Amino acid sequence: MGQRAGYRHRRRSANCRYRPRRSNNRAHPPGWLPPSLRHRVDTTLSTARRLCRYAPVTEIHIERVAFDTHAMSEGRSLTPAEYQNGTLAGTEIREYLLATWGRACAYCGAAGVPLNIDHIRPRSRGGSNRFSNLTLACVRCNQAKGSTPLEKFLAHQPKRLAAILQQIKVPLHDAAVMNTTRWQLTDALKTLGRPVNAWSGSRTKWNRTAMGLTKTHTFDALSVGLLDHENGDAIVRVPRQVCVIKATGRGVYARTTPDRFGFPRLRRPRRKQHYGFTTGDLVRATVPTGKWAGTWTGRISVRATGQHSLTTPVGRFSVSYVNLRLLQRADGYSYARRQEAR
Ligand SMILES: [Zn+2]
Repeated sequence: MGQRAGYRHRRRSANCRYRPRRSNNRAHPPGWLPPSLRHRVDTTLSTARRLCRYAPVTEIHIERVAFDTHAMSEGRSLTPAEYQNGTLAGTEIREYLLATWGRACAYCGAAGVPLNIDHIRPRSRGGSNRFSNLTLACVRCNQAKGSTPLEKFLAHQPKRLAAILQQIKVPLHDAAVMNTTRWQLTDALKTLGRPVNAWSGSRTKWNRTAMGLTKTHTFDALSVGLLDHENGDAIVRVPRQVCVIKATGRGVYARTTPDRFGFPRLRRPRRKQHYGFTTGDLVRATVPTGKWAGTWTGRISVRATGQHSLTTPVGRFSVSYVNLRLLQRADGYSYARRQEAR
């Protein structure tokens, strides 16, 4: 028995050392998104679902992709295959470059002049056509740079050189997020039972420019979709204020508050509710005296002492629970009104 146990022990332990780590070869189920992206789809869907519940929504129009002139040239929404084989694939890159480099020459900062696409590492020196190797340059800088390496061309401007090198390292994060979620978002919105129309970002821009509106989030939202301004379609009313909804979550699982080294500094209370209020509740506070005397509306973060912290558009202050009146229970979102620029 002892010998058998010895053999068994060797068999179990002999090959345990220096074993390479197992690769992550488990497939995700179809339609899986990482949580950070899943949240975008889910949050948008839940807001749309509420709007459908409380308002007579008959059609849904969304801007599906930020940089897409291909669909605009076709005059309709495109299918995934058409996106891959687009003849205007390059124009998306151009729009994206304009946004990334702030519509100005990367080398001298000139804005409002014609801009060329410039290869940071020149083509003649083996530079690629990848997005990370492209920037915008005014005609003069473009010609002056020629096939000079970037480090040599900007040798006398170390600050600008560092800024450019930093900028080209920034990944195409928002474009990638958009590309990953756009089809899922459309599919999700279709479950609401209303016709869903997806439009390109270029059409939004086209509509907005034709209406003579400046670039704000609200004007962009109003300009999404088919707006036939040549035949009299127009945006006749713009809102004075908009509702800003922010996903705030429903609390954290952490039991302690860490200091900057990660060690526990405070122990959080087990209870979420204190004196009838929870963090995130929308309340109206009537402060009788003091610097903050008056009536205020906002979200609170609760404290165990009953001196809750109220966040208002003009500041944050402590207010006793006896001066608070509940307007709405926390539901994982914060709601605020924002005045629109005229
Ligand atoms: Zn320039």
